[in-house]
Amino acid sequence: MTVRLPLALAGRQGGALAGRQGDPRPGLSGVGGEALEAWLREHGEPAYRARQLQAAVWDGTTRAATEVTTLPRALATSVDEAFRWSTVDDAEIVQADGGETEKALHRLGDGLTVESVLMHYPARPGQRARHTLCISSQAGCAVGCPFCATGELGFERDLGTAEILDQVRSAQARLAKQEDGARLTNIVFMGMGEPLLNLDRVLEAVEALNDPAKLGLGARHITVSTSGVVPGIRRLTALGPQFTLAVSLHAARDALRDVLVPLNRRWPVAEVVAAAREHARATGRRISYEVTMIGGVNDTDVDAEALAALLRGDLAHVNLIPMNAVAHTPWQASPMPVIERFAGHLKAAGIPVTIRRNRGQEIGAACGQLAAQRAGEPAAPAVARRRQRLEAESARALLGERSSEPVPAGVR
Ligand code: SAH
Ligand code: SF4
Repeated sequence: MTVRLPLALAGRQGGALAGRQGDPRPGLSGVGGEALEAWLREHGEPAYRARQLQAAVWDGTTRAATEVTTLPRALATSVDEAFRWSTVDDAEIVQADGGETEKALHRLGDGLTVESVLMHYPARPGQRARHTLCISSQAGCAVGCPFCATGELGFERDLGTAEILDQVRSAQARLAKQEDGARLTNIVFMGMGEPLLNLDRVLEAVEALNDPAKLGLGARHITVSTSGVVPGIRRLTALGPQFTLAVSLHAARDALRDVLVPLNRRWPVAEVVAAAREHARATGRRISYEVTMIGGVNDTDVDAEALAALLRGDLAHVNLIPMNAVAHTPWQASPMPVIERFAGHLKAAGIPVTIRRNRGQEIGAACGQLAAQRAGEPAAPAVARRRQRLEAESARALLGERSSEPVPAGVR
């Protein structure tokens, strides 16, 4: 079933909409408890009103402060004038996998769009049903991994704390409607953007997700994925366990990783893994390594052996994910027997490995694909040039040549 609500996308990512001005009111979900209490004090209201408001923000059904019956009418009106109840619209909802996967395209106040994906995993013997939400941390991404639709869009801006949290509130509200009383069980920062390049806001959002007065989801049920921002990993290590850290590795050899994850030109794979290893040691929490399996590019025996040598003995788990086809690349997913063979090498080295199912292929459930499709396909000659360049770059990388391309612009 496909539900389409009107979405007037203008230009790439709808960036031209609303002249980028948007609504200046802060999103209520991103306002911390103390700041909200201070605002209420200024309006002559007691501190407990902050808790009433927060409970309504997270109850999944209330659409405005004026709907909160316990609030005085004048106060509710002032709240709605000062704050936005939500900073994201559900501009489009698309379902796939017989309703097990649901992708939402959210429009932000300035017309940009980001995505979240809600995945339902039915109950199995010994395991309750799970509802996992994949959310975005930035509009676009500066890292520019060539197999990723978000990378192709380029960087637009960081999301604010409320914009991150409101994706979760939107999904929680839809979930509660679908299944009476159902709650999100897992949240993964694996949508658009590089969370460790927007770490302050991501940490604020995680704190709210943990907060029993808000979503109340335990740190073990939250995963943040990074393409390898070493200073960000070190900062997380100093903070202690906040969530599961996933590292998008894709290749263990620098030459190939330079092409697949351009950030590797700044922080090479050995540095990334050393920082992740230290994080695992300091927090006692296993690192998840992600490898998007690309046919004939990073799925050879040599790659499997290099990965096994890199991670042998670490507190780590490897997820192998078949690549979702993306229009602008010349590449396809590795065939399943090749992925199984690759997994065999890792298992033989004692490294735990899981082959992940590719969810929502028909709706482009990989990172940024729907937003890229809605932004309009790039012109055919541009796609052909990009494919040629990727073929040449990856061929050189497979011969072991490091990239001479610069570090992506916008990576601080
Ligand atoms: N920027 C972060 C988090 C967002 S990307 C990161 O790269 O880790 C989340 C995951 O989606 C990454 O592991 C990324 O490699 C994966 N991904 C991106 N494009 C994909 C595609 N076309 N097929 C399969 N996985 C993809
Ligand atoms: Fe950015 Fe992650 Fe996509 Fe790479 S895979 S371009 S880091 S969102």
